[in-house]
Amino acid sequence: MILKVRSQKTEYRSQETGKKKKSEVRSQNTDHGPRTTKLLFFPVCVLCSVLFVLFLSGCSKKDQMFKESRILMDTYCTITVVSDSREKAREAIDAGYAEIKKIELLLNYFSETSEIAAINKAAGVRPVRVSDETLEILKKTIDISIATGGAFDPTLAPVIKQWKFSKDNSESSVPSDRAVREGLRLVDYRKITVDTDASKVYLRDRGMELDLGGIAKGYGADKAVEAIRARGIKAALVAIAGDIRGFGVNLSGQGWKVGIQNPRPASGSDRPWEDIFAVLHLKDRAISTSGDYQRFFIINGRRYHHILDPDTGFSAESGLISASVIAPEGYLSDSLSTAVFVMGPERGMKLLETMGLDGILVRADKRVLLTGNLKGKIEILNSEYKLAE
Ligand code: ADP
Ligand code: MG
Repeated sequence: MILKVRSQKTEYRSQETGKKKKSEVRSQNTDHGPRTTKLLFFPVCVLCSVLFVLFLSGCSKKDQMFKESRILMDTYCTITVVSDSREKAREAIDAGYAEIKKIELLLNYFSETSEIAAINKAAGVRPVRVSDETLEILKKTIDISIATGGAFDPTLAPVIKQWKFSKDNSESSVPSDRAVREGLRLVDYRKITVDTDASKVYLRDRGMELDLGGIAKGYGADKAVEAIRARGIKAALVAIAGDIRGFGVNLSGQGWKVGIQNPRPASGSDRPWEDIFAVLHLKDRAISTSGDYQRFFIINGRRYHHILDPDTGFSAESGLISASVIAPEGYLSDSLSTAVFVMGPERGMKLLETMGLDGILVRADKRVLLTGNLKGKIEILNSEYKLAE
C-alpha cells in the first residue's frame, strides 16, 4: 500500500458560507482511487464511510488490515489498523475517529462554538477556561513557536484572513501592504498567556486571534493513535490529509510505505496528489509536508501561497517548494513542516538537526536535501528530482 502525501485542498468552511479562510491539507491513500480536491465536490459515496479488509499475500493467517475513510476536519481521513478481529478493528477505528472529531470541535477556527473561537472573542478582555486538550496543544504550539524563532506563529490569523484563495482563482487576491501591516500588528505568539493551574488562555490584545490550522491535524492524528493503541491494536496508520502517523508494522512486516507529492506536477494534471516523487517507510513516526503548491495563485508570474512568513505577512519565499518533516509525533511534524518551509533550506536543516528530527526539503531547482539519518532510506521515483550534493 502506498500512502501519498498529496495536495488535497479543502476548507474548514465552504466559500459559499462566506466564512473566512480555507485550511488546506494533503495526503492520500492510493487504494482509494480518484477523489476531488474540495470537500464540496466529494461524491456522496465518498462521504459514506467504508470498512473493508485487504488480504495481502504473505501475511500471517489471522492478522488482516482494516481500513476506513471519513471526512473530518473538513478533509479526507483514513485510518488503517492491523488486527485479528473485525470487531476489535471497528472499535479501534471508531475510537480514533471520535478523538479526531473531538479535536475538530475544540480547535476549529471557523466554528463559532470551538474553544479557539471563544479565546479569540475574549482577546484583550479576559482569560478563557479551556479543556485539557486545548491547553496541551497550546503549550506545545508555544514551544514550537519559540523553537522556530517565530517562523511558526499561531497568532497569524489577522493576516491570514486578509488573503483570498478561491478555487478557480477568479476571486484570489493579494491584500494591500497596509492591510497586511495592520494585521501584523496583532501577530505575536509571546502575547499568548497559558495559565496551566487555572486551565485558562488569554490573548493580550484586542483583535488578536489564534489559528491552529498548521498544527491541529497532526495533533488529531496523535490523539487518534493514542486511542487506537489503548484498544490493544499493535499497528495502525492514521492519515488526516497530509498529516500521517503510523505505529507498528504493516502486514508485510515493514514500516508503512508513504509517498511524497511532486510539488511541480505536470500542468493540467487533474489528480496532482497521485503524482509522487519519492517514497519511504514510516515506522513509529509521523510525517507531514508543507508546500507552495497546495493552495496558491499566480499573478504576474509571481506565486502566492498559503504559508505565510510572519516577518512579512506575505507568502514565504525561502527557496523551498516542499518541506516534509518526520518526527515521533504528528503535532511536531505538522507544525515543523510549516516552520521549515518558512525558514528555508539552511536554517530549516539546522533546526531539524538540532532537534534530532528528519526532513526532506525540496529546493526550487528540484534538488532534494535530506537530513543525515535519511540518506539511503528514500527512493526518488521522478528523475527531475536529484539529491543535492
Ligand atoms: P496544510 O494546512 O495545508 O496541511 P500547513 O500544515 O503547512 O499546511 O499549514 C498551513 C496553514 O497554517 C495555513 O493554511 C494557515 O492557516 C496556517 N499558517 C500559515 N502560515 C503559518 C505560519 N508561518 N505559522 C503558523 N501557521 C501558519
Ligand atoms: Mg503543517
